[in-house]
Amino acid sequence: MADAPTLSVTMLGAGQEVGRSCCVLQYRGKTIVCDTGVHPAYSGMASLPFVDELDWSTVDAILITHFHLDHAAALTYIMEKTNFRDGPGKVYMTHPTKAVHKFMMQDYVRMSSSSSDALFSPLDMTMSLSSIIPVSVHQLITPCPGVSFTPYHAGHVLGACMFLIDIAGLKILYTGDYSREEDRHLVKAELPPTRPDVLIVESTFGVQSSEAREDKELRFTTLIHTILKRGGHVLLPSFALGRAQELLLILDEYWKKHPDLHSVPIYFASSLARKCMAVYQTYIHTMNSNIRSRFAKRDNPFVFKHISNLPQTRGWERKIADGPPCVVLASPGFMQTGPSRELFELWAPDARNGLIITGYSIEGTLARDIMSEPDEVMSQKGVPIQRKISVDYISFSAHVDYSQNSEFIEAVKAQHVVLVHGEQTAMGRLRAAMTSRYKDRDEDVKIHTPRNLETLHLSFRGERVAKAIGTLAAKPPQPNDIVSGLLVAKDYSYTLLDPRDLRDFAGLSTCTVTQRQKIVLGVRWDLVRWHLEGMFGSVEEGVDKDGIQTMRVMGAIDVKHTAEHELTLEWDSSSNNDMIADSTLALITGIDKSPASVKLTTQPAHSHSHAHPHADVESESADMARIQRLVMFLEAHFGDVELHMPEAAEDDAEQGEDSTEPSLLVSLDEAEAQINLVTMTVASTNDALRKRVEAVLDMALSTVSSLTESFISGAPISVGEGNVPNHGRSKTSSEAPADAHETDMGAVLPVGKGKAAADEGGSDLTEQSDDDDGMLQVHD
Ligand SMILES: [Zn+2]
Ligand SMILES: [Zn+2]
Repeated sequence: MADAPTLSVTMLGAGQEVGRSCCVLQYRGKTIVCDTGVHPAYSGMASLPFVDELDWSTVDAILITHFHLDHAAALTYIMEKTNFRDGPGKVYMTHPTKAVHKFMMQDYVRMSSSSSDALFSPLDMTMSLSSIIPVSVHQLITPCPGVSFTPYHAGHVLGACMFLIDIAGLKILYTGDYSREEDRHLVKAELPPTRPDVLIVESTFGVQSSEAREDKELRFTTLIHTILKRGGHVLLPSFALGRAQELLLILDEYWKKHPDLHSVPIYFASSLARKCMAVYQTYIHTMNSNIRSRFAKRDNPFVFKHISNLPQTRGWERKIADGPPCVVLASPGFMQTGPSRELFELWAPDARNGLIITGYSIEGTLARDIMSEPDEVMSQKGVPIQRKISVDYISFSAHVDYSQNSEFIEAVKAQHVVLVHGEQTAMGRLRAAMTSRYKDRDEDVKIHTPRNLETLHLSFRGERVAKAIGTLAAKPPQPNDIVSGLLVAKDYSYTLLDPRDLRDFAGLSTCTVTQRQKIVLGVRWDLVRWHLEGMFGSVEEGVDKDGIQTMRVMGAIDVKHTAEHELTLEWDSSSNNDMIADSTLALITGIDKSPASVKLTTQPAHSHSHAHPHADVESESADMARIQRLVMFLEAHFGDVELHMPEAAEDDAEQGEDSTEPSLLVSLDEAEAQINLVTMTVASTNDALRKRVEAVLDMALSTVSSLTESFISGAPISVGEGNVPNHGRSKTSSEAPADAHETDMGAVLPVGKGKAAADEGGSDLTEQSDDDDGMLQVHD
């Protein structure tokens, strides 16, 4: 049983990089994928996560944290161009994410369909959109048995959430991009109420600290005001959705307070954003109290007073560039192509103009390169352009900074922390900082920074829980009590219950297999008891429900005197009981071969109790049985074995002083050895024989000790109840054909005298007791 299962975490993207987020979680046969983004610095197939490394038909669920392209844009490709649809997988995102994702993807497919390396068609996109399941924050969703998840607010952008995922009892928190700072419109990320085992967390800003919101807003508005006063244009490259809405709220508010700016237009160059404004207005209830209270006063904050829409005509960029000072928010944020790039190229040579980078810029994009303030940049057409435009960076990106992230990581208290969505150096610094924080406090938290395709195998300390229900739960156990019952596993949760409750609680029924075996018996009933007591210590004796004399061996095997020369063994089949039944059967079938039996048949046990004056009758009979087992053992090795009891000593006077104590005489090829049964020492004139007898005796002594001394049956003993089966049990029986035993049992015992010289004689005995079927079918 895979009792210590491991969680595999594989990054198909966003492992030591920012972009193409795609995290695969595999645990106990379930596969969950968090985010399926593209890398904004690449195009076509190169922008995808390493999708070929996963058999998508095995995926149970894909969870998308938010609508940003680096988290969601590969979804259509995966749903329509891989074997995802061949499997049971479902796709989830929050309602606002789904609403915005639709517009984002329409825009994405429109932009990429013109190029030759388009990943999918508009039809593919429509198909994939229709099968996305929208969910609400704080809703518990169960995609398949054994897997559930709950979305929690993540801040960052409208609809962004973290997922607290439960796979077979193991809890994983995947943050996606998150922000712990309440801004103008969003709530901040929540700390989920349950402590997860694993935290997979973004590390975009590594150990950087961000400046206070009031400070950076002031710096931002002042800078814009300064650029406008010097007669310049302000370019704010921004993604159409997300931070743009926050910037518009800030600008709208600032303009309201500064009437001198009312003549300066703010343009929002995004038809996509215009479409999505409806979504923002729809989901006002998911935003923070600032927005909700303004909305309650019929002041819709997303109906901007000072923001103008651009004319929908071609070439508007040049028109605006040649016009009077203005502020333009233009997409995309990374300025790879599109309006932001065109405006930049037009404005770059004029020193009066200003560029303000407001978001996180991914490596390999112009937005990142421009921050080093080069004197020249390449145009899209490959012509060098002089750069005189001022460049500033004021981050409004809604990612946690170091203090927020470290505080959150510590508050979550997971055993394993996996850093994702961060560049190698930023991630490495965060890891080092966190490691030393934990080291100072002597806490054992593992921090991982996997590269793409470098699978982490995480194992967990921690307990497994089984719930006791039904009869077992009726009485609360005391400390140190042992609770035993049937362990029922369903969907990776464990329930412990009394077998009688199985039908009520698990819908399963039980059946008991009752075994019966008939044996022809040539000896007296009390001799059988004597042998059984010798072997098993004691037996319960009584009558069964039909009034038949019954002995119960080890609380499990009923030996019934069913006819004058017939015994029947009856037991509920189980591995333990079958084993006891085997040894009972072997013992009974060997009775009339045993010299001790012959002795006892003529001289009942109580008659020679004087041989051991201190022993009571019961322990003496046990001793006798042990001697008898010893005899059987020795016979298997040496053939003839004679038992000499003290009373019989007169007849064997030649044995000298030894004859006053019980002894066994072993004869082999003219040589003899005598075993003193009190001291268990061997005497012989033949040294070779003595050594061999000593070796066999050693082995025999460890084998013939009473079974009850080393074995306790788990079956409940119901004294006096006979073998009445529990009410409602179904009962089957396997009766051995009686004719298999019709011969004299004495001839059935296959103790091979030919094996007398075998050195490893122990195995003979093993064969003898284990393989009773073979033994019973031998007809000499
Ligand atoms: Zn994001
Ligand atoms: Zn991201």
